[in-house]
Amino acid sequence: MPAAEREEGDVPEISVARALLQQVQRLQRVHGMAPVVSIVVHIGELAGVEAELLRTASSLLAPAAGAERAELQLTPVPLQAHCRASAATFPVERFRFVCPTCAARDVTVL
Ligand SMILES: [Zn+2]
Repeated sequence: MPAAEREEGDVPEISVARALLQQVQRLQRVHGMAPVVSIVVHIGELAGVEAELLRTASSLLAPAAGAERAELQLTPVPLQAHCRASAATFPVERFRFVCPTCAARDVTVL
């Protein structure tokens, strides 16, 4: 997100919620101001976004964006990693960056 959209003292969730609602408003204009009923967000495990904070921030900002009736659905997306040695792709659980196929630690986070 451009630096200009960030305001001093914002927690990241406020910036994310603001960007989210700006996108909703843009889509509303494209689709003839249809009411927003649902906003679905996929959050990566390392995104550093607290789901509950994002929910609170969005509910505070939603009325101004005309999206106060929209239901926010937050879907966590598990972190994926790729093993260089065996070319396996696997989900990372509890920050354990070890390939389950060949036990290599030379893995890349996707
Ligand atoms: Zn491997």
